[in-house]
Amino acid sequence: MKLVAKKDVVHVLEAWSKDYSILAPSLRENGDCVFDAFDASMFTIEYRKPPMPPKSSYLPQNESIFSVENGTFTPVIHHEKTMLFGIRACDLMGIRQSRSFFTRDFEDPYLSAHSRDTVIVVHACSWPQNETCFCTTVHSGPYAQAGFDIQLFDIGVDYFVESGSEMGKALIAEPPFRDFEEEDAQERLERIKHMAYNSIPIVDEVAETMELLKAGGGNDTVWEHMGRKCIACGGCVYVCPTCTCFNVEDRVQTPESGERVRTWDTCLFAGFTREASGHNPRPTQAARLRRRHEHKLLYFNPTDIQTALSGCVGCGRCSDYCPVHIGTLEVVKAIAEHIY
Ligand code: SF4
Ligand code: SF4
Repeated sequence: MKLVAKKDVVHVLEAWSKDYSILAPSLRENGDCVFDAFDASMFTIEYRKPPMPPKSSYLPQNESIFSVENGTFTPVIHHEKTMLFGIRACDLMGIRQSRSFFTRDFEDPYLSAHSRDTVIVVHACSWPQNETCFCTTVHSGPYAQAGFDIQLFDIGVDYFVESGSEMGKALIAEPPFRDFEEEDAQERLERIKHMAYNSIPIVDEVAETMELLKAGGGNDTVWEHMGRKCIACGGCVYVCPTCTCFNVEDRVQTPESGERVRTWDTCLFAGFTREASGHNPRPTQAARLRRRHEHKLLYFNPTDIQTALSGCVGCGRCSDYCPVHIGTLEVVKAIAEHIY
């Protein structure tokens, strides 16, 4: 077990940034915290749930996947040694689920290139970041059990530092990381984990709704009601760490040059499933909302780490940002409690 003083973390990142392109929590002038290229003057160690997960680091919102110049196609594969510093455990589970999706039937070279050589430093949560967190319900947090290189536990002026890989162990081998070899070190860590876990309430309706959907149940009027409210803004999808829908479009510059771009899309947009004939197999917003939530609660990608209970990692962002209050928490409560 190691310790590092919080005040030294920024210097550690300055040193690591010589070898890695680091994305770290940064405080914007308006008070928002975003994962951005590490800049010591913007970096913050004390932050709550960032509005966006670090999704664009491995699935950029707009990404050129090949270019054409005078009739010659050139794949555009980005690859650089990257570090995701300070992500939450739920967002790590989101990354693992996305990787699982993008390697399930064949390997997506673009996402794999972004993921290769990426060092992951998790900042374990000591308590819920706000009232919509439900990571304990879906087994994704508040701390990571596997799949990380380094994990930090807040103990006041210091962090407990846990390594989860040989790479992580090497990175924390030297000062300012210092050994913490008290006899009760492991016991203290377990106590911290236990307290954090117990501070985040279990939402019983998630398991109840999953059972209902598995049995072919669920109340159609819930979806119809939600479908009437949903304004199809796509906000819930864009903030979701496990939503991976995308579109590809060709941007033609001249008859012989241009590029193909992959962009975020969503199954909540009518155009996503509309077929060339004009037929849409999910013709209503109710049907599209149902499909999205079934994808979170019924059909989802298992991960190679831990046992994910669902395709939702319980970050609560859809509930935080949906302008008409139909995030996953509200949906499961409505279904389980037969509200409509
Ligand atoms: S469905 Fe909502 S709560 Fe679940 S992972 Fe996505 S944004 Fe987070
Ligand atoms: S954020 Fe809310 S209103 Fe917007 S698409 Fe999602 S469910 Fe619909």
